[in-house]
Amino acid sequence: MSDTAIRTIAARARGVGKTYGAGDSATVALHDVDLDIRAGSLTAIMGPSGSGKSTLMHVFAGLDSASTGTVLIGDVDITHLDDDALTLLRRRSLGFVFQAFNLVPTLSVFGNVTLPFELDGRKLTDTESAWIHELLARLGLGALEQRRPHELSGGQQQRVAIARALAMRPQLIFADEPTGNLDSRSSREVLTLLRDLTREYQQTVILVTHDPVAASHADRVIFIADGTLARDVPASDPKTLSDIILDLEVRS
Ligand code: ADP
Ligand code: MG
Repeated sequence: MSDTAIRTIAARARGVGKTYGAGDSATVALHDVDLDIRAGSLTAIMGPSGSGKSTLMHVFAGLDSASTGTVLIGDVDITHLDDDALTLLRRRSLGFVFQAFNLVPTLSVFGNVTLPFELDGRKLTDTESAWIHELLARLGLGALEQRRPHELSGGQQQRVAIARALAMRPQLIFADEPTGNLDSRSSREVLTLLRDLTREYQQTVILVTHDPVAASHADRVIFIADGTLARDVPASDPKTLSDIILDLEVRS
């Protein structure tokens, strides 16, 4: 494969399997998964409960090890990294957004967003500081930089979490049910924002969700059923996506 082709892939799974436990109690959560995530895209992962969505995300993020196969983040094979190297990779190259926001209550908006640099043991450069202010302004948080999380709405808190995930300009951002705690209007705002940010800043986002409306904001939707990739479809409306989910649930 040419260098250009490799650069356009942000993450890659090859023959990835994951088995929990052993012997009679073994559960095969993923089986022989091949998946390329294009750089600058928003990819949604959907599937029935227990189909392996979280496991796939954890294996991609190096939070859990694959039992078989390889996972590449950029051109780094993370299946052969030790724990220290994985921790550094997660801190510098990956961003996370969770349903529960996970903001530090005692820190301001600015403190929360710059926490990744703090954890990395370094001060912001002028360029990074300018980027954070640009990002906060872009996310409509410019006037709220000194507020604490409890002084913000749910949608605003999730935008702070998105800003924090983007702060280090990671190669890949994982969003696990990011709108699970938001009303429909805030959900739409957050999802539109995630999609626009992938375009404006060529960020790559993997969105794990059971919500067809959320997944309809993605450029591509991957369906998992029983630990294998069942369908791979381009951007679709919520009705099309929920029909596919219903079909997979009937079969499983
Ligand atoms: P999803 O996120 O799609 O609901 P998961 O990835 O959480 O699915 O789970 C996939 C399968 O693996 C399920 O059968 C689940 O019970 C099993 N599983 C997940 N985590 C563990 C674990 N830590 N130990 C044992 N089995 C697990
Ligand atoms: Mg899950």
